[in-house]
Amino acid sequence: MLRTPQRPTKLAVLTSGGDAAGMNAAVRATVRSALAAGLEVFGVYEGMQGLVDGGDRIKQLSSTDVGGILHQGGTVLGTARCAEFFSRDGRRQAARNLVERGIDALVVIGGDGSLTGANLFREEWPSLLDELVAEGDLEPDLAAAHRRLTLVGMVGSIDNDMFGTDMTIGADTALHRITEAIDAIHSTASSHQRSFVIEVMGRHCGYLALMSAVAAGANWVLIPESPPDTDDWEESMCRAMEAGRAIGRRRNLAIVAEGAQDRHGNPITAQHVKEVLEERLGEDTRVTSLGHVQRGGAPSAFDRYISTVLGYAAVEQILMSPGGEPQLIGIRGHEIISSPLMDCVNKTKAVADVIARQDYETAMDMRGGSFKDSFRMIRTMVRAQPHGPEPGQRRLRLAVLHAGGPAPGMNTAVRVAVRVGVDHGHTMLGVHNGFKGLAAGKLEEMDWMSVTGWVSQGGAELGTSRKVPAPELLERIAHQLDKHRIDGLLMIGGWTAYQTANLMHELRDIHPSFALPIVCLPASINNDLPGSELSVGADTALNSIVQDVDKIKQSAVAAQRSFVVEVMGRDCGYLALMSGLATGAERVYLPEEGISLLDLEKDVNELKDGFAHGKRLGLVIRSEQADPVFTTSFIRSLFEHEGIGLFDVRTAILGHVQQGGDPSPFDRIQATRLASKCVEHLIEQALSEEPASSFVGLQKGKVRFTPISEFPDLVVPGVHRPMDQGWMALRPLARVMAQPVPPETTPQV
Ligand code: ADP
Repeated sequence: MLRTPQRPTKLAVLTSGGDAAGMNAAVRATVRSALAAGLEVFGVYEGMQGLVDGGDRIKQLSSTDVGGILHQGGTVLGTARCAEFFSRDGRRQAARNLVERGIDALVVIGGDGSLTGANLFREEWPSLLDELVAEGDLEPDLAAAHRRLTLVGMVGSIDNDMFGTDMTIGADTALHRITEAIDAIHSTASSHQRSFVIEVMGRHCGYLALMSAVAAGANWVLIPESPPDTDDWEESMCRAMEAGRAIGRRRNLAIVAEGAQDRHGNPITAQHVKEVLEERLGEDTRVTSLGHVQRGGAPSAFDRYISTVLGYAAVEQILMSPGGEPQLIGIRGHEIISSPLMDCVNKTKAVADVIARQDYETAMDMRGGSFKDSFRMIRTMVRAQPHGPEPGQRRLRLAVLHAGGPAPGMNTAVRVAVRVGVDHGHTMLGVHNGFKGLAAGKLEEMDWMSVTGWVSQGGAELGTSRKVPAPELLERIAHQLDKHRIDGLLMIGGWTAYQTANLMHELRDIHPSFALPIVCLPASINNDLPGSELSVGADTALNSIVQDVDKIKQSAVAAQRSFVVEVMGRDCGYLALMSGLATGAERVYLPEEGISLLDLEKDVNELKDGFAHGKRLGLVIRSEQADPVFTTSFIRSLFEHEGIGLFDVRTAILGHVQQGGDPSPFDRIQATRLASKCVEHLIEQALSEEPASSFVGLQKGKVRFTPISEFPDLVVPGVHRPMDQGWMALRPLARVMAQPVPPETTPQV
C-alpha cells in the first residue's frame, strides 16, 4: 500500500542551464521562505553537476548565506551543463547524494532543458532508490522514508519563452540591457545618419527582438515566429527604409533575433541584412551583436520582485502537496499561478516544432495575444507613410492630452496614439499643458514625424496640468471642444485625468460637447488607478528607486547604520512595497496600513536586537503618506534615540528623481500597447451612435476597458487609490524575506 507522502523536512535548491538575472533573488526567497516554514535548506552548486558530484557541492544554507545577493546578476550557486545527468547512472548518483542527506524536495530554477531533466529525475526517483538499495548503496529504511521526490520549477531564462508564466526570470533585465544599448546606439546612428543592425538573443523565440523593437522604436524586426511574408522581403525592407530617409528619419534600425529565418526556414543573419542595406541603398551600415551583455548586470526591479514572489510560492507549493505532480510556478499580472510542469515544457517545445514545420500562423497563435498585438503594432510604427483615410471615410478629429503628474512613458504613448490615429486616416491634435491648455485653445495638429524620437524620452513633451478644472475652466473647455470640432479625447495621465473625465461625463447634459467619447490611459508612477494592475511610469519609478537604494546600501559598508528611505506614491503603497521586496528592506510602511506606536516599538526593538548581534545595515522604506503623525523625520529621531551606541540612522527622501528618467522597456511596451488599443477604441466609440467613455488597463495581462461611470465605485472614498489592489497580497512576503536574524550571525540585507 502506498503511504501518503510526508511533508518534506529538507529541501534543496539549484540553478541550471543558461544564467539569468534574478536567479539569486529566487534562491534567496526560496531559502528564507523554507527556513521560515521550519525546513532545512541546502544549496546545490553548479546545477545538475552539483547533484551528481555531491560532497561540498551540496551545502546547508542559512538566512545569512543568501544575504547581499539580491542585487547581483548571474547566480551565486553557479550553473553548468552536465552531461552525466543525461544518463541514468548520473541521476542515480544524484538521488543518492540527496537521499543520504535526507533531502526529498527540490526547487529547480532553469530553462526547459533543466526542468525536463529534473522531471525525469523525479519520475525515476523511486526506482533509482530501489536500485541503490539492491546494490547495497543505500539503507532500505532511508529509501522507505523518502519514497517520493517533491519537485517545483521556476523558469530562469532570458528568452521569455515558457508557457505557464507571463514572464520568465531574467527576461525583463535582458530587455533593459538591450534597450540601454540601443538607446546609446541611437544617438551615434542619428549623428552620422547611419543604419544599424542589432542582433539579439532568441533561438526559437523572438520575444526579446520584438519587445526591444517596440521599446526602441526600431524600423524593421525579424523574428523566428513570423518570417517576412514574401521571398523578396529584402526589397520591401529597403523600400521602407528608403521612404523613412525621404521623410527625414536620421537613422535606420533593424533588429534581428538570433533564430530569424525566411519562410523556407533559411536563417537570416544580421550580416545579410547589413549587406542588403549597403548594396541596395548605399547605406553606411554597422552590425552590433549584443551577445552576453544581454545576460549580465544587476537584475531589474521587476526581476527582483517576481523572483522573490516566485521563490516564496515555490516553497508554499512544496508544503501544500508533498510528492504531488511537479508544478511550475509562474505569474499572471500580480497573481501567482502554478501549472503542471511537463504541460508547460511540452507546450513550449511544441512552438519550436511548429516553427521548424514552417507553420508560422500557429506559432504566432501559440505565443499569445500580447505578442501578436506587438507584432501588428510594429508593422504600423515602422511605416514611413501612413495608410491614411479610405475613400469616403469620415475623418475624425481626436485630441490627446496629459493630466496629473508627469510619468515616464507619456511621450511613448502619445507617439503611438498619433501614429495609429493618423494611420487610420484621422486628424490627431496634441493639447499643450493639459486642461489649462485645452481651455486656452492650445491645440496643434500632429503628423507622423512630429513624434519622432518620443519613444524613449522621459517627461511629457505636450506638458501636463495637475488640477481638476474648476467650473469656469470647464466652460471654456466645452467651448474649445466645440470650436475645434473634437470627436474624441484621449487623456494620458493619472488621478486628475480620471476625475475630470468622470466629471465631464456627468456634466454632459449641461455641456453637450462633453458627450464626446473620452478614454483614459493610466500613466502615473503611483500606480493608484482603478481598472489596471499597472499604470505606465510605475515600473520606471520602481527601477529608479531600486538603483538609488542599491547605492545608498553601498554607502554604508563600514558603518552600523539604518536607513529610512521615503518614496512617492501619495495614498498608494505600491512603490513602497515593491521597492521593499526588490531591495530587501526589512520593514515597509504603507498608507493602506498606517503606522502605529506598537509597530514602531516592535520594529525598533528588532533593529536593536539585530545590531546587537552583528547586524551592519538596516533598511526601512516609508511611503510618503504612510501616516500623518509618524513622519520620516519622526521615525529617524526615534530610531536614532533608541539606537544610541548600536547604530546610527540616515534618511533619504528620494523625491522627484522618481518621476524622471527615460521610460523603462516595460513602460514603453505597455504605453505602446495601451495607446494603440485606446485610439482604436476611441475611433470605434466616436463612430458609434452612443459613444461611451472609459478607462483602459491591464487585467490579468489582458487589455480591458471599464466604463468611466464606474470610477467612483472602484476607488476608496476620500483617498487616491483603488479598492482592488492585487499586489497587497504580497505584504506578508516582505516580513518573511527579512526574518529576524538568529544571534551570532552577521547579516546583510
Ligand atoms: P536550459 O535549462 O537553459 O534549457 P539545458 O537544456 O542546457 O539548459 O539543460 C541544462 C542541464 O539540464 C543539462 O546540462 C542537463 O544536465 C539537464 N538536462 C537537460 N535536458 C535533460 C534531459 N532530457 N534529461 C536529463 N537531463 C537533462
